[in-house]
Amino acid sequence: MYKYISTVPLLLAISACASLSGNMQESTHQINIDKIDSRSTKIGMVSLQPEETGLWVRGEVARKIPMRGPIFGHVHIDVFGENATKLVSLIANHQRPNRQALNARFSKQIPVEPDRVKRVEITHHPDRHCQS
Ligand SMILES: [Zn+2]
Repeated sequence: MYKYISTVPLLLAISACASLSGNMQESTHQINIDKIDSRSTKIGMVSLQPEETGLWVRGEVARKIPMRGPIFGHVHIDVFGENATKLVSLIANHQRPNRQALNARFSKQIPVEPDRVKRVEITHHPDRHCQS
């Protein structure tokens, strides 16, 4: 089992009523992403997009040994805030965009205020049924 840690800088909301004082109202917020692969499947690129209604998590999974055919399993998305408190925990299914694709994609909107999020952990489970 491999564990990759990467950091994605997010540019959060820019105030619409910026004053002329010269102060930029934008803040850069960093959310760590941990990817936990399963034995057969690795988690590829993951992107986070903060929106008013929550945090969109999008990503890709692929077989460790590239070959055609279905990619089984699902991903767990766990979202942590300050002091490693778990805020939300969700399951997302991944799908290949077409039958030739070697990668499957997942996307999920997480109902959480993006500024509260410190870390997102994505775990691949290779089977159909959830085992927690
Ligand atoms: Zn599971």
